[in-house]
Amino acid sequence: MINNLLEEIGNPKTIGITGHVRPDGDCVGAVLGTYAYLSNVYKDADIRVFLEMPAKHFSFLKGYDKIDESFAYPGQFDVFFSLDSGDLGRIEKSEKLFLGAKKSICIDHHVSNMGFGDVSHVEPDASSTCEILTRLFDDRYMDVEVAKALYTGIAHDTGVFRYSCTGPETFIALSKLVKYDFDGSRITDETFYQKTYVQNQILGRTLLESILFMDGKCIAGSIDRKAIEFYGVNSKDFEGIVNQLQVTRGVEVAIFMSETGTLEHKVSLRSNGNVDVAEIASYFGGGGHVRAAGCTMNGTFHDVLNNLSLHIEKQLKDKQIL
Ligand code: AMP
Ligand code: MN
Repeated sequence: MINNLLEEIGNPKTIGITGHVRPDGDCVGAVLGTYAYLSNVYKDADIRVFLEMPAKHFSFLKGYDKIDESFAYPGQFDVFFSLDSGDLGRIEKSEKLFLGAKKSICIDHHVSNMGFGDVSHVEPDASSTCEILTRLFDDRYMDVEVAKALYTGIAHDTGVFRYSCTGPETFIALSKLVKYDFDGSRITDETFYQKTYVQNQILGRTLLESILFMDGKCIAGSIDRKAIEFYGVNSKDFEGIVNQLQVTRGVEVAIFMSETGTLEHKVSLRSNGNVDVAEIASYFGGGGHVRAAGCTMNGTFHDVLNNLSLHIEKQLKDKQIL
């Protein structure tokens, strides 16, 4: 665990920062917040940001234009950060840079994270990686740009301060951020709530075609390749669909699948508290949190559903909910 982040970093000339594949709001906030913060601390350092390009609505964050999707760097980094990634494999194209750095630092909040890199700081009880960073960052180098990025990340991973991962510590962290002059509701409106027309169309279509089973305790929705191509959408457009499925009254677990290849699906799982979906996702090679987890699975939609259902059913039966 890290006590003093700046002491841990030392005095580097080159710093690399990355996050997980298909970066979500917390990941984007953590990576760009760290970029903004370290730019204030190490004014002469060469600081690079390696990430899959996030949605345009994050472009108001400082450093968005510095995002490098090539994942190429000729030398060795003095320090390299992996943020919001539950395991080394999830930083994918940055893995070599991370492992090759003189010092690699992992900061994350996934329960499934066993720790990786030279220094690992994992707080599974934290709402978000951005909450952890808010605590680790020194007030002296904070500014409105850092605050906006960290606020964005906390807002996204807590479903705008709503999910059970939102605790007293989250609000203490937020109190450090909201004293800076920025419009928080504009950030949540523009990056979290707003959807494009086509995103609303696929949300509607998925809800319409969803199936409720296991005595109403489970709901599943999916989008196949044909629909993905028809609407011209990608994984960024699916955010929030699983959460809408999850708020169906009576449901314990919501499943959303998107077809990523031949007989291959990206699976998102959400639990209302009685089922540990991190355990199920980990079993199938993924990971995440008790109430929000994901994995990639092979087979037809029904194969995947059957395999997941066995695990969900077992947990519900063990708890005598089913
Ligand atoms: P998602 O359903 O993609 O929003 O992901 C929910 C949570 O599960 C996030 O915290 C992800 O980091 C984690 N997660 C999703 N997919 C995977 C995966 N294939 N491997 C490990 N963790 C995952
Ligand atoms: Mn996160």
